[in-house]
Amino acid sequence: MTPENRPKRRAPAAVPTTQPRARGAAGVRAIFERFRAANPEPEGELEHVNAFTLLVAVVLSAQATDAGVNKATRKLFALADTPEKMLALGEERVRDLVKTIGLFRTKARNVIALCEKLIAEFGGEVPVTREALESLPGVGRKTANVVLNIAFGEITHAVDTHVFRVANRLRIAPGRNVLQVELGLEKAVPQEFGRHAHHWLILHGRYTCKALRPECGRCLQIDLCDSPDKRVA
Ligand code: SF4
Repeated sequence: MTPENRPKRRAPAAVPTTQPRARGAAGVRAIFERFRAANPEPEGELEHVNAFTLLVAVVLSAQATDAGVNKATRKLFALADTPEKMLALGEERVRDLVKTIGLFRTKARNVIALCEKLIAEFGGEVPVTREALESLPGVGRKTANVVLNIAFGEITHAVDTHVFRVANRLRIAPGRNVLQVELGLEKAVPQEFGRHAHHWLILHGRYTCKALRPECGRCLQIDLCDSPDKRVA
């Protein structure tokens, strides 16, 4: 075969290297105005009775559903709603009470370790700074954001799988990883929507803008959405 009649190699298909552009400020505002009109006071779905039980519930919720966590924590929190009571229960009993939740062994160990640290270093109280929260066993950035937002009223954006997907699909804060999306949300979400933004995004992702089969037909943002994942009947 001569070089002339050798089949030409096809160029590899172009791989998009750029992020979709973030929506402009007016578009982001329009989206949150709709979320607010539909649900003015959205709430997280993890049951808790105080900042401590919220912290424990979030630690237990990694890679688990809120419904599954609530089922276990109803019994757990009836017995122990403070770090002191949780320590008195002991790791074995805590493990038994949360055994229906994935990764329960590690999570039970973390709950006991974080109670010890709360008592030893924070007077048994849940600390109110990100740095202190993230120093606790089993507590990462997302957990700290949830606690700061729900328990202490700060404007933080906890990016879980639902928030990540919806922020990208609606181009509120496109990003390749959770930190990019979180920082994008910090910039994009108008102050007045800050407290509730992550709840609206979670609920929208959980119940409407689902990962595999988004229910676009009943989506209140359908005319504003230009996601390639949008399903039009
Ligand atoms: S139209 Fe569909 S893809 Fe777009 S935000 Fe709504 S549910 Fe999600």
